[in-house]
Amino acid sequence: MPSSASPSYIGRFAPTPSGHLHFGSLIAALASYLDARAVGGRWLLRMEDLDPPREMPGAQAAIVESLQRYGFEWDGEMQRQSDRHDAYEEVIERLLRAGLAYPCVCSRKQLEAHPGAYPGFCRDATNQPTEDAAIRLRVPNLEYGFTDRVQGDYRQHLGREVGDFVIRRRDGLFAYQLAVVLDDAWQGVTDVVRGADLLDSTPRQLYLQELLGLPQPRYLHVPLIIQPDGHKLGKRYRSPPLQPAEATPLLLRALRALGQPTATELSDALPGEVLAWAIPRWNADRIPRTRTLAEAQLR
Ligand code: GLU
Repeated sequence: MPSSASPSYIGRFAPTPSGHLHFGSLIAALASYLDARAVGGRWLLRMEDLDPPREMPGAQAAIVESLQRYGFEWDGEMQRQSDRHDAYEEVIERLLRAGLAYPCVCSRKQLEAHPGAYPGFCRDATNQPTEDAAIRLRVPNLEYGFTDRVQGDYRQHLGREVGDFVIRRRDGLFAYQLAVVLDDAWQGVTDVVRGADLLDSTPRQLYLQELLGLPQPRYLHVPLIIQPDGHKLGKRYRSPPLQPAEATPLLLRALRALGQPTATELSDALPGEVLAWAIPRWNADRIPRTRTLAEAQLR
């Protein structure tokens, strides 16, 4: 366990090393960092390296370096999800034994004919092998919802809108939904602050928490930055990696995007000084209550 002390706030930043950090990741990192530090909380770094085939070579080191250059300081050692396979597997086995999860051998082609919620073909199959099969979690025919600190009430009907979802892929890789829930609980995370693209993953995570008897963290989903062509700012769409030379101006821009104050004298400050200035002034109530922000509107 990373820490034996349990302060009342533990936040985290949990990048996936499929590419470099970009301005959208900076906004998520900055919001989670300031939200933690403003209340004297801990802030952890977790590398979500669940998917080696999609990992960009060198991305882990580049992400760590960007965070350092941008002045972020995390508590304790960075954790890696690739070190946690035994914990994930143990829970998968437990869910299978309890009949709460089941192997699924549906092919991609079969499922393409049924877009939307998984149609449940393998739900009631008996004696399916667990090797060379995906593992799906059986979801209840219920709505799961929560109140996000920025986005407000969010609800989703797991049965109708999501369906039984994959917790271990057919190729043996563990799914994000499972790993994130287990790791947030394992690390004692009290507050999840991340991009609004994950809002619609949260009800699945709430269900997993309930099923496994894990505490439910508070959630704050920050707006996503949308590029002029309507694409979200992400790794797939021409989002430029964070440049060290731009740390101070981009931190100031990220602060403004989050509705926080800045000051002209900060334009000559070091990144760490910008963060130190912003911590006592952080007010999450000022974050725009919207899912997306147009990049063009940001100064
Ligand atoms: N690893 C996810 C990402 O980079 C974030 C997961 C989370 O914050 O829950 O998009």
